[in-house]
Amino acid sequence: MYPLPEFELLRPTTIDEVLAARARHPDSRLLGGGTDLLVNIRRGIEAPAVLIAVADVAELHAIEATAGEISIGAAATLADLAAHDGVRAHYPVVAEAAEQVAGPTQRVMATVGGNLCLDTRCIYYNQSEWWRGANRHCLKTTGEMCHVAPKSRGVCFATFSGDLAPALLVLDAEATLLGPDGLRRIPLADLYTGYARQDGSTGDGKNYLSLRPGEFVAKVAARNPRGLRSAYRKIRVRRSIEYPVAGVAVALRRDGDALADLRVAFTGTNPRPVRLEGTDALCGGPLTEDICQKLDDLVRDQIMAMKTTFTPGHYRRRVAGVLARRLTTELFAG
Ligand SMILES: Cc1cc2nc3c(=O)[nH]c(=O)nc-3n(C[C@H](O)[C@H](O)[C@H](O)COP(=O)(O)OP(=O)(O)OC[C@H]3O[C@@H](n4cnc5c(N)ncnc54)[C@H](O)[C@@H]3O)c2cc1C
Ligand code: SF4
Repeated sequence: MYPLPEFELLRPTTIDEVLAARARHPDSRLLGGGTDLLVNIRRGIEAPAVLIAVADVAELHAIEATAGEISIGAAATLADLAAHDGVRAHYPVVAEAAEQVAGPTQRVMATVGGNLCLDTRCIYYNQSEWWRGANRHCLKTTGEMCHVAPKSRGVCFATFSGDLAPALLVLDAEATLLGPDGLRRIPLADLYTGYARQDGSTGDGKNYLSLRPGEFVAKVAARNPRGLRSAYRKIRVRRSIEYPVAGVAVALRRDGDALADLRVAFTGTNPRPVRLEGTDALCGGPLTEDICQKLDDLVRDQIMAMKTTFTPGHYRRRVAGVLARRLTTELFAG
């Protein structure tokens, strides 16, 4: 680790002041809890001259959670989110994801916005400057090749590992973004562009967010369909403090003996959090072994774990499938 380089820290107290600071410093970075950004700065991965902290912006801290709706400000901490009575009662998937991020000391600082916009990770990237330099860097920084997939044709496969995104994706959450052109609301799924297609038509592990210049996440919100049961599980190497080997959020609705609605989302596998497509076709009848097998098939087709962590990609894909099947079965049984 190197000492932190010099930077200017701005501490606005209103959203208007954040926007003004962003306009004055177009190359600035937003600072949530700094539990990822400051680590990357210290490693020499990035060196922004100006950081704009959102910790003092009271408007961005609000958490509201009733039986019908949840709304979470981007500066709310993960510790507050995990402890919130309304979130725990009505949106267990969100509380469970928040309380499994890192360890307690990170969670009191870490914010919802920082977790949703968390930089993608790779064993060739989350390293010191000299380590990366000795390996001639890689596409995600200043290098010319991808060490994970040398024939990637310009595509980076660094993995999105934030725990909160899948929990919110299964609730069909919407993100409110603020920027120089005003406010826009987008499905949370559209915040993520890391499809890593080799035709270059979308983003990848390097360009993984659809935020426009100067834009930031102000809040995230979702409605709660009646009868939805939800939960989040992750497998990690060290249970006390660790990114997911794979993390899975499941939300489902049961109507008598039939599976009426099934939503499954993953993290720790692809350069974006993945909301599994095709689960509607698994609904309408009981949760049989045949349906579970079809769920496994969807996971196998859509989860593209590469060798970006110390855990092999094929193992992470297996873990994702097992977690999805287990959680779906548990929630269906009630
Ligand atoms: C030891 C350790 C273990 C960890 N384990 C996990 C884990 O298990 N799961 C996990 O998900 N994470 C983990 N992390 C990463 C990190 O702690 C969390 O993801 C945390 O939630 C990041 O939030 P933050 O507010 O600290 O983000 P910051 O570091 O402040 O910011 C992260 C990124 O988001 C951007 N950003 C911040 N707020 C906004 C906003 N409102 N709009 C747009 N961009 C924004 C920043 O500019 C930066 O690029 C771990 C970190 C450490 C050090
Ligand atoms: S996937 Fe390749 S380009 Fe991306 S961070 Fe890893 S080594 Fe670098």
